[in-house]
Amino acid sequence: MMPQPVTADPLRGCARPAPAPGPVERANLLGMARPRLESFFESLGERPFRARQVLKWVHARGEGDFESMTDLGRALRARLAEVAEIRAPDVEGRRNSGDGTRKWLLRVDSGNCVEMVFIPEGRRGTLCVSSQAGCPLDCAFCSTGRQGFNRNLSAAEIAGQVWLAVRELDRPVTNVVLMGMGEPLLNFEAVTEAIDLMLEDLAYGLARRRVTLSTAGIVPAIDRLARRAPVSLAVSLHAPDDALRDRLVPINRKYPIAELLAACRRYAAANPKQKITFEYVMLEGVNDSPEHARALVALLRPVPAKVNLIPFNPFPGAPFRRSPEAVVDGFRERLNGAGIVAITRRPRGDDIDAACGQLAGEVVARAARVRRAALAAVS
Ligand code: SAH
Repeated sequence: MMPQPVTADPLRGCARPAPAPGPVERANLLGMARPRLESFFESLGERPFRARQVLKWVHARGEGDFESMTDLGRALRARLAEVAEIRAPDVEGRRNSGDGTRKWLLRVDSGNCVEMVFIPEGRRGTLCVSSQAGCPLDCAFCSTGRQGFNRNLSAAEIAGQVWLAVRELDRPVTNVVLMGMGEPLLNFEAVTEAIDLMLEDLAYGLARRRVTLSTAGIVPAIDRLARRAPVSLAVSLHAPDDALRDRLVPINRKYPIAELLAACRRYAAANPKQKITFEYVMLEGVNDSPEHARALVALLRPVPAKVNLIPFNPFPGAPFRRSPEAVVDGFRERLNGAGIVAITRRPRGDDIDAACGQLAGEVVARAARVRRAALAAVS
């Protein structure tokens, strides 16, 4: 066997093999929302209220050891230690930015690491979590897409990110955004179960509007989300016409802008108090002209929308440049002048490659083949 490479930078060092799993497959309770946890306890012949006790211990108190769950009784604690576990991803590395942003590299298995970012801003503390190892969508300006796609994260691996962050941080996580690596709506079941835990009063107790799911526009799944877990929705639009969006966000070839905006209108109709956020990465000379701004205004007029302009965050080999500040300002003023609320998202953590689109993690390099297979599966 070839020796595994070892790198010096802890956040680039995802090459160390994880310890081999033990012989027993234990149920990981970390990703079970209340109904599934109740069924689990019923399968052990226990009363369902045990689920409420365990939710509180694990998520509200950050406990990872059954032995400390003193109100469960000795026999049940011993049984749980045999058949269950509380297992979060392993922290492989941590980096802190000069602006207070923190980034974790998390190992989810021997070949895959994902990244998680915490962004403090006044009293708000936003945790950005990943939903897939890699991403199949291959957006032209995103470094995650470059590595291809390996697999969906489990609910335990997604909720486990929140669990880890809450345990490590000395200030509260007030908001969670599913804006890390991956396309959350291509991992619907695990993502919505993890969202249930974020919203669960006995776990993290976040209000719906404080959980934001960002999607490149998987239209049927937007409708499913409206029924299943109507959290705040952000849509990565990035272009006001199909020809340009086909190039920047290739999933547009399957779900073009008109269908995407129709789904957004349905989502907004089902959640009347909330506007949909449209993300628009500002790429110099590509999508940042006054004509693009005018076209965007016309497009978004019928939708309860707000726009987040994201100055492009570069990564090595990226074929784009960030639009100059004056161009971003002008673009924003045009939208605002036409009555569409637009803000510029300040790049955070760019000194530690933690800004939007810079998350790399590491997935084993069978990228192109797996990406093609995954795209074929959604088309
Ligand atoms: N797959 C989801 C969520 C992950 S990306 C989605 O597409 O929405 C989170 C946001 O960062 C998206 O709006 C994405 O388009 C944007 N983004 C990706 N790469 C970027 C980059 N290099 N600079 C700025 N924003 C980027």
